[in-house]
Amino acid sequence: MSANNTNTSAYSDFHLQYIAGEWQKGKDDSVNTNTNPYNGDALVKIQQATEVQLNEAYEAASQAQQEWAKQTPAARAAVLYNVVNILDQRQEEIIDWLIKESGSTRIKATVELSTARAITLEAATFPNRVHGEIRPSNTPDKENFIYREPIGVVAVISPWNFPLHLTQRSIAPALALGNAVVLKPASDTPVTGGLLLAKVFEEAGLPKGLLNVVVGSGSEIGDAIVEHKTPSLVSFTGSTSVGKHIGELANGGDYIKKVALELGGNSPFVVLKDADIDQAVKAAAFGKFLHQGQICIAINRIIIEDALYDDFVTRFLEHVKTLQVGDPDKMETAVGPIINEKQVKSLKDKIAKAQEEGAKMILSGEIEGQVVPPHIFTDVTREMDLSRNEVFGPLVGIIRAKDEDDALSIANDSMYGLSSAVFTQDLAKGLRFARGIKAGMTHINDISVNDDSNAPFGGEKNSGIGRFNGEWVLEEFTRLHWISVQHQPREYPF
Ligand code: NAD
Repeated sequence: MSANNTNTSAYSDFHLQYIAGEWQKGKDDSVNTNTNPYNGDALVKIQQATEVQLNEAYEAASQAQQEWAKQTPAARAAVLYNVVNILDQRQEEIIDWLIKESGSTRIKATVELSTARAITLEAATFPNRVHGEIRPSNTPDKENFIYREPIGVVAVISPWNFPLHLTQRSIAPALALGNAVVLKPASDTPVTGGLLLAKVFEEAGLPKGLLNVVVGSGSEIGDAIVEHKTPSLVSFTGSTSVGKHIGELANGGDYIKKVALELGGNSPFVVLKDADIDQAVKAAAFGKFLHQGQICIAINRIIIEDALYDDFVTRFLEHVKTLQVGDPDKMETAVGPIINEKQVKSLKDKIAKAQEEGAKMILSGEIEGQVVPPHIFTDVTREMDLSRNEVFGPLVGIIRAKDEDDALSIANDSMYGLSSAVFTQDLAKGLRFARGIKAGMTHINDISVNDDSNAPFGGEKNSGIGRFNGEWVLEEFTRLHWISVQHQPREYPF
C-alpha cells in the first residue's frame, strides 16, 4: 500500500512475531512481558520465538533478498520514502510508544524519531549512490571492474536505549542497499525496537520476507542468530561485554562473517578555562541527563580546568536542581524513569561506591520506583569507578584538571573511545584539543550527544568497530567484487 492511502488507525497485534511477511505466534514456552518503566503497566505479552522460527526467518530473508537485489534503485528508494511519510503521519503514535515502552521523555522521544527519520531519508538515496569502479590493470589487455553488491542477509541486534533509531540506522541502509534483515530487538523494547518498524515497512510496501523480527531473549536465541550460516554481516549495537562475545562467535564458528560493533562509551566533556561557562553548564546538563543518561554517547565524565572548576560546580548544581524529574509523558519532564530494575540496582551500587571511594555527593534525591533523580559528585578522580566505567544513568562525577594537557590526559585515560566534547572560545585550541582525543567523534562547543545522518558515527578502542551513516554505512552494508576481463589471450609462462 502506498503511504498516500495509509490507514492511520493505530497499529496492533504486537504480541506476534514478524516472520516471512506473516504475523505469527511465537512458539517458545517463555513469554516476554513488556512493561512501562514509569508505572509498571503491562503493555503487551509476547510469546517468544524458537530457534526453528529463527531458521524460518533466515530462510525467508535469504530467498526474498535475491529478488530484492534485482529491483531498480527507484523501486527500493520508493519504499524508503514511503517509510519517511509513514513516520511523519504516525508521529504521535510512535512518540507515545517510545514514552511508554522505553521511558523516553517527550523531548527524547521527539529527538529520537527525528534522527530515525533522517537516516531513513539518507538511506533512500543509497540505491542511487552505490557505484563501482573501473581500474587499470598491470596485465596487458586486462580491465578491472569493481562491483559493489548487496552483502546478502544482515543480522541486526539492537539495544533498548534509543530502540527506534538504533534499529532503523541498521535496517534502513541494509534494505535500501538490496539486503534482507533478521532483527532481534532488545527484550525491554520489542515494539519500538522492532515490531513497530516492521508494521511501518509492511505498510510502506516492503516485499514479504525482507524484514523479519524475532523476539526472544538474547541468551536464548542471541548466539543462534550470530552463528547461523545465513547472515554475511552481524550489525550489533549494545554493551561492550556482549559485543565482544558476538565478535568471537561471528568469527569462531563454522561460518566467518563480517561484524559491525557499536558498543559502550565513556564520553569526556572538557571545559577549558576560556570557555563560555553559561553555555557549558547548559550543555553539560542536557548532554548528561537527556534520557536519564542512558545513551552510549552521553557525557560520562565532566572534566573542568582548575581556573573554572568552582564556578562551574556552583552554576551546574543550581541549573540541575531546576530539572523536572518524573512522568516522562509530561512536556516539562527532563529526567524520566530508568529502563528496568536491574539498571536501577546498578545505579544504587554506583552511588554507594562513589561515596566509598571518597567522592563528595553534592546533589542527590530519593529514588522512587524506577525514577532516579540527578546525582552530582565532586572531588572525583580519574581512578574512581565513576570515571573508569560507563554510568548509563543520571549520575555524574566532576573532575578537576590542572591545565589543558592534564585535561587531555584525563580525557584519554579510558578503554573507550566513542564520543567526546570540549568547550573553549579559542577555536584553534579547540581543534588542536579535539584532534588529540582518541575517539571516533569530538564536538567543539557542544555536547557529546550528536548524530548526523551524513557524518560518520562510531568509536575506537572498546567502543567498537565500524561506522554508521552516509557513505560509511553504505560501505559497511555492501560487499566488493573484483571482476576482471582479459580482452586478448594472455601469454602464460608455461
Ligand atoms: P546489551 O549488550 O545488554 O544488549 C544489546 C542487545 O544484545 C539486546 O538486543 C540483547 O537482547 C542482545 N543480547 C544480549 N545477550 C546476547 C547474546 N549472548 N547474544 C546475542 N545477543 C545478545 O546492551 P543494552 O543494555 O541493551 O544497551 C546498553 C549498552 O549499549 C550500553 O553499554 C551502551 O553504551 C551501548 N550502546 C552503544 C551504542 C553505540 O552506538 N555505540 C548505542 C546505544 C547503546
